[in-house]
Amino acid sequence: MQIVKTIGELRPIVQKWRREGLSVGLVPTMGYLHEGHKSLILRAVSENDRVVVSDFVNPTQFGVNEDLSTYPRDLERDAAVCEEAGAALIFHPEPEEMYFPDNCTFVDMDSLTKGLCGKTRPTHFRGVCTVVSKLFHIVTPDRAYFGQKDAQQLAVIRRMVRDLNFGITIVGCPIVREEDGLAMSSRNAYLNEGERKAALILHKSLMLGEGMLKAGERDAAKVREAILGNLGTEPLARADYVELVDAETLEPVEKVERPILAAIAVYIGKTRLIDNFTFAAEK
Ligand code: AMP
Repeated sequence: MQIVKTIGELRPIVQKWRREGLSVGLVPTMGYLHEGHKSLILRAVSENDRVVVSDFVNPTQFGVNEDLSTYPRDLERDAAVCEEAGAALIFHPEPEEMYFPDNCTFVDMDSLTKGLCGKTRPTHFRGVCTVVSKLFHIVTPDRAYFGQKDAQQLAVIRRMVRDLNFGITIVGCPIVREEDGLAMSSRNAYLNEGERKAALILHKSLMLGEGMLKAGERDAAKVREAILGNLGTEPLARADYVELVDAETLEPVEKVERPILAAIAVYIGKTRLIDNFTFAAEK
């Protein structure tokens, strides 16, 4: 497995694969890889001849007061995870390699990015769409793999690829959880022991909501209130949002009568965690 830091090195490698008729999968990540990332890489390896994992903490998707400088990094460990999963190459550029100092071009979106995480992170998805577009142009993959853990991001990327005719197949992969239910995340590394226990409230509250829907409840407000109420029982938790939205448009729903996404963002101490589930109701 190769580790490549520049676009100039990466392009000829991928071009050679293409000349040999090999298919290419891309797994975009911000590094500090865990089993969730690994599941994406394994899926990509099973569906492509060569897999590129990008490992880049993208500055443009962080807001001014967010955790860009403290975001955990460990390239050596990431390389071991990628190698074991069968990736062919890690692309690990410095920010200066990805952005010219006078960069003034961004990829943005009118809808899908305003609600949920977009409410408190207004420039986040512009950064995500921009860096993913750049990675698509640099790596030119046949398929790219994203986790359902970041459900809004997955919906946004699918829409961007459709609207801008990227011609790349987007593969969504299920959420990987710790044994006790906490969704794996690089940000879990911020949690101290007490916060780690408190963080279980996300999955527990979502399961409560999912249980109501499975039992036939169709009033979105009631499910939302129940999830919020349950989050409120954990003193270390502070909800940023709890929303039930249409799974495709991400618009809030009143009645659950088509596939929905129930998504939450919750502060545990200073750490902001997200989680979600989807529910396919018949009308
Ligand atoms: P990140 O490094 O957090 O930007 O995540 C890179 C990719 O891994 C994104 O597509 C995420 O949705 C995905 N991912 C992160 N955590 C998980 C998880 N627990 N299960 C599945 N996919 C995940």
